[in-house]
Amino acid sequence: MPEIKVLPEDVVSKIAAGEVIERPASVLKELLENSLDAGASRIEIEIKKAGRGLIRVHDDGRGMDREDLRLALGRHATSKLNNFDDLYSLATFGFRGEALYSIFAVSRLKLVSHRAGADSGYGIEGEGGHVTAEVPSPPVKGTTIEAADLFFNTPARAKFMKSDASERAHLIKTVEEAALANLGAAFRLVIDGAEILNLPALPGGMWENLKFRAAEIFGKSVYAGLARVEGKTAGMAVYGFVSRPDALGATRANQHFFVNRRPVGSALLRQALYRGYGHMLSGKHPACALFIELDPGSFDANIHPQKRDVKFSSENEIFKTVSNTIYEELLAKQTAAVQFTAPAGDNKFAVPDVPAYREAATPPPAAAETGSLFEALGQPQAAAVPADWRGRDLAYIGQLAKSYLLFECESGLLVVDQHAAQERILFEKYLEEFSRGAIKVQPLLVPLEAELSRSQMETVLKWRDWMKTAGFEIDQRGPAVALLRAAPALFYFTSEAFAGFLGYLSEVLGEPQAAAEDIKRSIIATMACKKSIKAHDFVKPQEAARLMEDLKKAKDGHHCPHGRPTLFHLSAADIARRFQRSGTL
Ligand code: ADP
Ligand code: MG
Repeated sequence: MPEIKVLPEDVVSKIAAGEVIERPASVLKELLENSLDAGASRIEIEIKKAGRGLIRVHDDGRGMDREDLRLALGRHATSKLNNFDDLYSLATFGFRGEALYSIFAVSRLKLVSHRAGADSGYGIEGEGGHVTAEVPSPPVKGTTIEAADLFFNTPARAKFMKSDASERAHLIKTVEEAALANLGAAFRLVIDGAEILNLPALPGGMWENLKFRAAEIFGKSVYAGLARVEGKTAGMAVYGFVSRPDALGATRANQHFFVNRRPVGSALLRQALYRGYGHMLSGKHPACALFIELDPGSFDANIHPQKRDVKFSSENEIFKTVSNTIYEELLAKQTAAVQFTAPAGDNKFAVPDVPAYREAATPPPAAAETGSLFEALGQPQAAAVPADWRGRDLAYIGQLAKSYLLFECESGLLVVDQHAAQERILFEKYLEEFSRGAIKVQPLLVPLEAELSRSQMETVLKWRDWMKTAGFEIDQRGPAVALLRAAPALFYFTSEAFAGFLGYLSEVLGEPQAAAEDIKRSIIATMACKKSIKAHDFVKPQEAARLMEDLKKAKDGHHCPHGRPTLFHLSAADIARRFQRSGTL
């Protein structure tokens, strides 16, 4: 007797269904996608008992004929994909032909459809993956699909259902997101006989339509607090609405993200949203309807069984474009308000007049003498920074090469390395939270994944408990994949950075018991600060001023956590000497 058995088809189908169909809202999401793919302009949805009793979707799309109806229920049956490469180049989203097959496996399913031009419609019925009846039906345009008694044959899964209220909330959100992304279609949602949504198809221009629909979906008061954002970089566009900083909410219930107009729950996009607010959040949550448009080849929608998360090929770019777009837009609005009230003569940010230009009588030095400024002045030393720089009034001059912030002080010029300064500030804030036992932890909606070697995984697992005290919730999936489920709110990781972070830690950490607590802490803090994304290469004057204030308060404002200097000073005398002058500024 061989010990290996091939699983019977209905077990296989239930396993597949377990991946795709997690809850009633997953069924609805798939059915809505199919209706929209079929070109529907009107979709009616009826729900009973939080989706466990019934989910019915009726559309006026192109419909299926008898042959297609039968095929549609089979595994890997799709009209949208012909070969593997299509999976990556399709302008649509992750089509794998599994949805109807999976829904059929775990419900009592009824499909009725009519293809334009045919004499009659056709219906097919079955349960748990087995067809029980096929009948002709009246020629009503489009398709109706009913999934009843969801999970009737998989009681173990039925137990994982949340409360009715929570399943209903997921169902409603699913329709809302479909409606936000498909402004040209009408949607009606009825739950247990009560009409929840009735949204007409919108005929206007894109922004006009989006405003109208957003107002209906967010409700008047949330909608009134939204600001329009729009940005573009090579290969991507981002647009939509986000809360103004003075109109934030208590939960993240009103956040909707779309990639190429398909709803996604992307941890990266959510973090980019929050980062876009910088210090303006104060523990609250923005609402948003944010749309990202990307080349279909630059992301993968098939990494998640429910197509809920996507993997972007250039995470950093996307993070920065999204957070910068939001940040610039919100700050522009704030700045407008600030400038309006600022007294005219008090402009700290104006570039000072440079008298040297007017009297540039001295010939330029010969080529041989033209060493770098640093060589000419000797190595810049942190010690050369005036001892009392923290107490001084510093006027921001501007930014150099998107990396250095220039400040004028009485004795000369202070040059700050903005990334080194940000790392220092983050580092001290984190250690300070750590020592108070008050690390603010942010759970990730979709965990980040890192593929490690088995031995790295071993080390990470040994450190798991301690890492939790440090604000990192790490789990294991499979022998060599680590998941980050929650991280200190101060940090923003991409999955690449998280993999780098764990990889590095597992090399240097050794045994948890062996190291002293403060050493462990500073290793974690150093690495986390290094890997955490620092957005906004371009810094606005207000932010430069705030960064300087934070740096002044830092215990060691002179060095980044790796020991490089964060700032240096060019004294008035140094500058004068360069111009072969004597004197002060
Ligand atoms: P996929 O959407 O990945 O192709 P599904 O299992 O969701 O796989 O659907 C299988 C096929 O059934 C689709 O490719 C489509 O041809 C057809 N289909 C499903 N729903 C509808 C609908 N509402 N209207 C027209 N055709 C549909
Ligand atoms: Mg589908």
